[in-house]
Amino acid sequence: MTEQAEEKKDWLLKELIEKSQQVANLKGFKVDWDSTPTYLMLIVTELSEAMEKWRDDQKEGFKEEIADAFIRLFHMVGDLGLKEEMVKSILGKLKYNETRPYRHGRTRL
Ligand SMILES: [Mg+2]
Repeated sequence: MTEQAEEKKDWLLKELIEKSQQVANLKGFKVDWDSTPTYLMLIVTELSEAMEKWRDDQKEGFKEEIADAFIRLFHMVGDLGLKEEMVKSILGKLKYNETRPYRHGRTRL
């Protein structure tokens, strides 16, 4: 991957975090370290909603709930001041995962 492509990924992730944070804050949602568990559970709630959409074969609804989960995650890391570190972590983990064995060496999912 070229350096330019790497920078573009970095930029896009930062934009998603900043926009998610900005909109959530404007709507009265603010995450701090003490409220983090509540926001983590709200993310789980979005994933549960996605599960329900999947059960009903509702692909549009499924995509919306997954988008909600990403937005909540981006908002949370933004509010916690982890934007730069998270972008590095995500890109670093993706690179690391490429080096791992099939199913990460496990027999089952
Ligand atoms: Mg939702």
